[in-house]
Amino acid sequence: MQIFQCPACAAPLYFHNTGCGCGQLVTFDPDRQTMLADAPHCRNRAAIGCNWVAEGDGLCRSCAMTKVVPDLMAAENQPLWSKSELAKRWMLANLARWGWLTAADAGARPVFRLLSETTAAGETDVVMGHADGVITINVTEASNAVRAERQEGLDELYRTMLGHMRHEMAHFLFLRLSQDPGFVDLFRALFGDETADYAAALRAHYAAPQPPGETHITSYATAHPHEDWAETIAHLLHLVDLADSAAAARLALPEGPPPGYDAYAETDTETVLTHAVALSLAINHVNRALDLPDLYPFVLSQGVRDKIAFAHAALRGGVRPS
Ligand SMILES: [Zn+2]
Ligand SMILES: [Zn+2]
Ligand SMILES: [Zn+2]
Repeated sequence: MQIFQCPACAAPLYFHNTGCGCGQLVTFDPDRQTMLADAPHCRNRAAIGCNWVAEGDGLCRSCAMTKVVPDLMAAENQPLWSKSELAKRWMLANLARWGWLTAADAGARPVFRLLSETTAAGETDVVMGHADGVITINVTEASNAVRAERQEGLDELYRTMLGHMRHEMAHFLFLRLSQDPGFVDLFRALFGDETADYAAALRAHYAAPQPPGETHITSYATAHPHEDWAETIAHLLHLVDLADSAAAARLALPEGPPPGYDAYAETDTETVLTHAVALSLAINHVNRALDLPDLYPFVLSQGVRDKIAFAHAALRGGVRPS
């Protein structure tokens, strides 16, 4: 993620800011990736602190994709909704760097159902997932305490709301990309046959989780080719954004990234992965000074790097007219 500038005083602004210390209110334009003064703002601004620019019906592009919001009769759901939407906007702003879901992208858009386990009506057993363009997110996991407990229960190295957004969006992007038969053939050669029985595969995974080994980034990725793809895309997005954010903050090692580096413009996957991994190792060491967990606690095997390279090329070149 880039660091932005106040349009009035040029002070640095961060992605979530709705205003500057100088008093200027700002709105974020995801197509131009810039903070604007005097632009119409999303009508969810007061409710959830959304700082994006309003489109057609008064909602921003991100909020317009949310068809179901959590039950606001339960007061705890308001901040959980707000945190989940921030993670969603971050994910969408990253993908916009490659043209996805921008004004120029005429392809299908996902629909989001943001549900809480605490609700007066509707489902309380909220299962995150994607089906036919509809993404379900459990906002209960925007609570750090809840998420930490589940991460420990599932023995996962990493679990965040942004990670959930990146993972579920990957399933939607597969739907878009698979309209091209050339993509599907190349996908199957690397990830396997995604038409394999999904429910049976997940049952088998939860009954006896397999280690990631040399070919998968996580244990969950071994469950089914669709989950392998979603995990691979999530990690591609983690790592490209890690390199981009470091460069924006002018954080670099002697070997890079060079000043002004645009990780989203990088065409060579190995180069951006090398920058991201080297930075993560350095930041892991810094984090230990504060007794914080490692920034990126994964090792990228060659098999995983090959899959990330395929996913990178697909996402960089994948926005086609529908
Ligand atoms: Zn300012
Ligand atoms: Zn909005
Ligand atoms: Zn999934």
